[in-house]
Amino acid sequence: MPAIYSPSRSLRPETSYDLPVQRRLTPARRIRRDYLEMTKPDPMSPEGLTSAGVSASLLEYLHACPICRDLELAHYCRVPSLFNPGEFIHYERCHGCGTVLRNPRLPAEYRETRYQEGEISDDDIRLKPENQAHYRYMMRLLERLLPTGAGRRLLDFGCGAGGFLLAAQQCGFEVMGLELNRGLATHVEENLGIPTFQGLVTDPRFANERFEIIISSQVFEHLVDPRATLMELREHLEAPGLLLIEVPNQNHIKERLRRGAVMDDSHLFYFSGRSLARMLEAAGFRVVKIEEGLRTYRIFRDHDGRFSDRVHDIGQRLFSALRIKTGLSVIARLR
Ligand SMILES: [Zn+2]
Repeated sequence: MPAIYSPSRSLRPETSYDLPVQRRLTPARRIRRDYLEMTKPDPMSPEGLTSAGVSASLLEYLHACPICRDLELAHYCRVPSLFNPGEFIHYERCHGCGTVLRNPRLPAEYRETRYQEGEISDDDIRLKPENQAHYRYMMRLLERLLPTGAGRRLLDFGCGAGGFLLAAQQCGFEVMGLELNRGLATHVEENLGIPTFQGLVTDPRFANERFEIIISSQVFEHLVDPRATLMELREHLEAPGLLLIEVPNQNHIKERLRRGAVMDDSHLFYFSGRSLARMLEAAGFRVVKIEEGLRTYRIFRDHDGRFSDRVHDIGQRLFSALRIKTGLSVIARLR
């Protein structure tokens, strides 16, 4: 007799061939899927599908890489939005320079207003010890690259709450901040007593400012055209013209384990050490140092003072040598 008539077989529970995806979902993923389904906007509603309040049909689609102008952009990953339930954010990778970019993205004018007027919270202005230890570490690296007798005027482009500026001031630099957000600029100027220009680097009121060093931490990944901004900053640099840029690392250890793991909606670009160095070289800089190690202070955060700085230095070098990458800091100088 054919096996299909076997009683033992007919009594077996039915296999849900029609729901193969559901069977693979963990409870946490099921809750997330149901939540996204529940909150999914109706495409036929008067507002239609939106992204951070902007109609999806108004999103800007890039047909070429803004860094190297290459036309070949390939799918990189698609991740659920961190802020808008039901929305997925798409990232593409440029074949020419390897940069990963959000595509499509919010129009530039919308982003600018949001950064300028965005409300700040107590957490935004709280200085975190682990970040301060890292800033001091980077300032010591910059100090070593500065020729004896060189000027010490330093600009922090997109200074945020002023943590990097404070570290630089402690290391004896003559510091100034530039910040688009009104709340943060006022905070740095009034509460930290550090001169801060509120506005864009292209503002005519800022045109005559010159610096020997420009630093910029966690800003370039938010810019609409990082290469153009780099060229604008170059105009404000004088010899020896040191530039430090810090951005999230596309080769972050988590991202290497799972594509899309570190993606954040507010970031338009993800650089690797290599792609950031290429952009800097193309903009007339010579790369002198690339730091990609794990921030040691995140492990030894209970210690403070000089001891932890020494531990931090050794640890950062060690993790960098082991290629355990999390952050990305690149120092370049004017060619
Ligand atoms: Zn490119």
